[in-house]
Amino acid sequence: MGDAKYPHLYAANKATFKDRGITKAAELIKPWQEQDGTVEGIALVGAPLSKPSISHSGASFAPGTIRKMLSSCTTYAIEDDLDLADEVIHDFGDIMMHVTDLAESDQRIEQTLQTLYSEHPQMIPIVLGGDHSVSAPSLKAFTRARGTIGVIQFDAHHDLRNTEDGGPSNGTPFRRLIDGKAIAGQHLIQIGIRNFANGKMYKDFADAHDITVYPMKAVHERSIVDIINESIASLQHKVDHIYVSVDMDVLDQAFAPGCPAIGPGGMDSYTLLTAVELLAQCDKVTGMDIVEIDPTVDFRDMTSRVAAHVIMAFLKGKKK
Ligand code: CA
Repeated sequence: MGDAKYPHLYAANKATFKDRGITKAAELIKPWQEQDGTVEGIALVGAPLSKPSISHSGASFAPGTIRKMLSSCTTYAIEDDLDLADEVIHDFGDIMMHVTDLAESDQRIEQTLQTLYSEHPQMIPIVLGGDHSVSAPSLKAFTRARGTIGVIQFDAHHDLRNTEDGGPSNGTPFRRLIDGKAIAGQHLIQIGIRNFANGKMYKDFADAHDITVYPMKAVHERSIVDIINESIASLQHKVDHIYVSVDMDVLDQAFAPGCPAIGPGGMDSYTLLTAVELLAQCDKVTGMDIVEIDPTVDFRDMTSRVAAHVIMAFLKGKKK
């Protein structure tokens, strides 16, 4: 327990919460160094890029804030009487972005992730954005390193805008991936798409490319468990791996005030956490990203806090 002279002095004792019988999720983080060799299991990689965002975004600050918010949760899941205190979350740190060259930043994300995904084939990446543009280079890298990929995207928006009008922004990642043939439309499932947040032309594009779309009405009226099971069943025999992309603006604005594109009529946090945990239980689910949190406009880091719980729900799903 440390120095008996100062039993209540935190610094003198160098006591962690773990010594006191409670482990904080942040204590599971193990920074990776090259001499550590190959990583297996869950690993964080920050992609702090938010300049391609259509609306003003400080999402480049999110990787740091999400890591910090892991200190706000414990490792104990009462619902399953499961303590994840002995798990490890590897952390590769953040990819360094170019200050002004967005294409260069996109390339750096793709190159770095492709090397990580190839060199660590048993690693299950959790990419921390950044805005949603980072999913394009992440998924390009994932498909090159790991094979045919199915994608389950939680989002208020289709993100199927063309790139001709505004470049490779946070509104285009899945259009870029489909146009570039990195993923096939029939391997993309979008959950939580909302009213008055998209143009009809993007739904038409989704239909023309056999993208499966579950609008919020489906999430509201059906069980999320059914939707996830149906999604896994439709993908798992067609693809080598499944990647989950969590745009935090799939949540209602009441649950995610820190998203640049907030709006009403969205998902509640428990539904999202249930979905992520269930997805993680599927062996083919081997990658995830969490995007679109701007800590500079958030309220008490509420949105980054949800992201920390998404990480823990994923870890719990993999453990079950
Ligand atoms: Ca999005």
